[in-house]
Amino acid sequence: MKTLYFNQTYGAFSLCSYISRQRPNAYRFRTLPVDRGELLRGLEDPESIFCLSIGSLGDVRLTEAFFLEVRKTGLTPVGWPKFLLGGAFFSYSDCTAFLRYFPETSYIVVGKGESAILHALECESPEGDRILRAEDFRAPDDFLLGPALPWPRERPIAVSRGDFVCGWGKCRFCHHRPDRNSRQITIEEFCSRLVRYYRQFKWRLFYITDNHLESHELRFILEKLESEKVRPLLDIFGMRMVRQAVDLSKSLATARIVRDVGWGLEMYSQRILNLYRKGIRVEDMAPILSGFAEAGVTSHVHILLGLPGCSDEDYEMTYEFLYENMVKSRIINRAIVHWFVLSPPVMGRMAEMGVKFRTRGCYCLSDYFGNIDELPEIKTAFQIFDTWDEASGRWIAHDEVLLDHADVIKRILSLPGAYYDFRGFFVSMETWRELWGPALGNWLKEHRALIARPHLQGEEVGGGLGGLARKWMKYGGRHDAG
Ligand code: SF4
Repeated sequence: MKTLYFNQTYGAFSLCSYISRQRPNAYRFRTLPVDRGELLRGLEDPESIFCLSIGSLGDVRLTEAFFLEVRKTGLTPVGWPKFLLGGAFFSYSDCTAFLRYFPETSYIVVGKGESAILHALECESPEGDRILRAEDFRAPDDFLLGPALPWPRERPIAVSRGDFVCGWGKCRFCHHRPDRNSRQITIEEFCSRLVRYYRQFKWRLFYITDNHLESHELRFILEKLESEKVRPLLDIFGMRMVRQAVDLSKSLATARIVRDVGWGLEMYSQRILNLYRKGIRVEDMAPILSGFAEAGVTSHVHILLGLPGCSDEDYEMTYEFLYENMVKSRIINRAIVHWFVLSPPVMGRMAEMGVKFRTRGCYCLSDYFGNIDELPEIKTAFQIFDTWDEASGRWIAHDEVLLDHADVIKRILSLPGAYYDFRGFFVSMETWRELWGPALGNWLKEHRALIARPHLQGEEVGGGLGGLARKWMKYGGRHDAG
């Protein structure tokens, strides 16, 4: 039996379940991190397979540390195990450049992994095209999660309704794309799967990962699970913040099965929410968050800074809202702060709303916040751009926007409970230096849990397999809503 090692992301759980169903008893699954001895044995066994799902810059750093360790084993490519890479990162970056940087990679899977994974696992030699695009393969038939994953304590399972269909229409800044390779399932099917996993496999923790749960759907789930006498624990990655959500607090308090909810709040400014067609109202926010907090649910909100058209006043109102509700009354547990980035799907919608912009090429990984010098060539789909400012009659670089609102943006980023999402922060290091001055180093250190920047933090990259395992634990093992 071959051993398949994978990092702990919900995409990977789903993949392993798919494999165990399609190829019963063919693979043994192990989650990273494993101890040093086991990792070495795994690397020395040409039959093993390492599947790394990359969703963020932190995961890129982990991959880099991982391949440094592979190189240290002294094995030649003939003796290597298979290294399969996939994840959201590859939808936005230059896979060919990635392969140049990490030539050890056997395959990169772009798009939904289930379609291509069996080919990647079973193909004898990684000659030929090493970039596998999921849409070139047959979409997998629907599958049930199998009881294959040996979790020490919890068994978190991603339950998703397949295709991305957002009930809010289309926010003008949204980068999500529909996934034509998977099937939309109804909320009824969704519940019956959950009940089945609970009963048949005795799993207790579920992530609802489709990013667009509606209040009436959550009500249906609560009622259904109550009637089935099933009491799992649920984390909901994205829920719509509309008035009806207030009415859920009593049922939530009785059921006590929802642990955490993520909300796309963006800005506390009705003008901006309207401008970008977000479809939510500022006056609904505090009552909903407060009702959920009373019912014992933790809430994290996503904040989006840098949208063209935001004034200092919009930022101030957002800061005040977070201060009141996260720092003082604590009905918000965490704010994840993103920075607006431009990519082709968003450009058309920006132009439609009258934003005039000019693009100046794509960012590379080295342009990310953190300035990854070691990975200079890997381009992403995100654009370096300027917007036309009518008032001053000049082009303004997107980085300048950060400096124009420096005071309030720094206050937002410094709030206790605020974390920035480095994936969305395409801002040059120079700009960050200007924003923070000498405080930059400290600010970086405070956010170390979300930015894997070992050499800025006095740690060496790839400091032995034990060090690698610790880094997997510290950075790779987190559950990240993005
Ligand atoms: S609500 Fe979220 S997922 Fe839906 S369109 Fe807006 S940004 Fe995209």
